[in-house]
Amino acid sequence: MPDVTDHLILIKGVALGVLVVLFLAERLLPSVPGTFRWPRLVRNLAFWAGNSLLSLAVVVPVTVFAARHGLGWRPEWWSGLPGLGLDLLLLDCWIYGWHRLNHVIPFLWRFHQVHHRDQALDVSTSVRFHPGEVLLSALVRAGVIVLFGMPLESVLIFEALVLMAAAFQHSNLRLAPWLERGLSRVIVTPGIHWVHHHDRRAETDSNYATILSVWDRLFASASPTQRTPAMTLGVEGEPELPLGRLAVLPFRKGSD
Ligand SMILES: [Zn+2]
Repeated sequence: MPDVTDHLILIKGVALGVLVVLFLAERLLPSVPGTFRWPRLVRNLAFWAGNSLLSLAVVVPVTVFAARHGLGWRPEWWSGLPGLGLDLLLLDCWIYGWHRLNHVIPFLWRFHQVHHRDQALDVSTSVRFHPGEVLLSALVRAGVIVLFGMPLESVLIFEALVLMAAAFQHSNLRLAPWLERGLSRVIVTPGIHWVHHHDRRAETDSNYATILSVWDRLFASASPTQRTPAMTLGVEGEPELPLGRLAVLPFRKGSD
């Protein structure tokens, strides 16, 4: 499948470029200075490396299969640019719902909490996910792709947008207050998403949106809390763990 490979390389290349630029920018202009630690970076990048392999081995083939076996009920008008726009909206709404379920269903939280155990935030947090969560997410998303008969292009473009949006909202980049305020009306900014990582469960269970910020307002999950530099991050009452213990955390008794 040369087409898919070409698209994937382009998308991953663009997303990686944005991640690197943001990573450098947050070092030069940090919102919360002095949080950089090598062991933490290595831990987060290890998850990224593992998930990149998993993506090539399982996520991409599952997604390609789903896109080729979509239910064929889409009307004629649901194509081209308007169709792409609608697909992106649907996928962004789906990922909002899926993220919320990851907090509500104890089995899913076992995996998702690995992302939340990070006690600092920067671009590297945006690639720190347990492979189990990546796998489950890909399988559920495949169902959405089949149901709506989505073309692979829509899914690949959405994936690129999610990667870049996640890097931005987790970043430790200092933004001018007027810019952050303006952007937050449309997309999820660090100011919104850092509250989701506040180590207070009531805050952790809010602000679930990934690209557009409207979903939290629409489904009444937006937190009124404003981010502050002193805000402590992580999972309430739970410590950060070494890589090996994070990897087995979902399978340990009582981790939900
Ligand atoms: Zn979360």
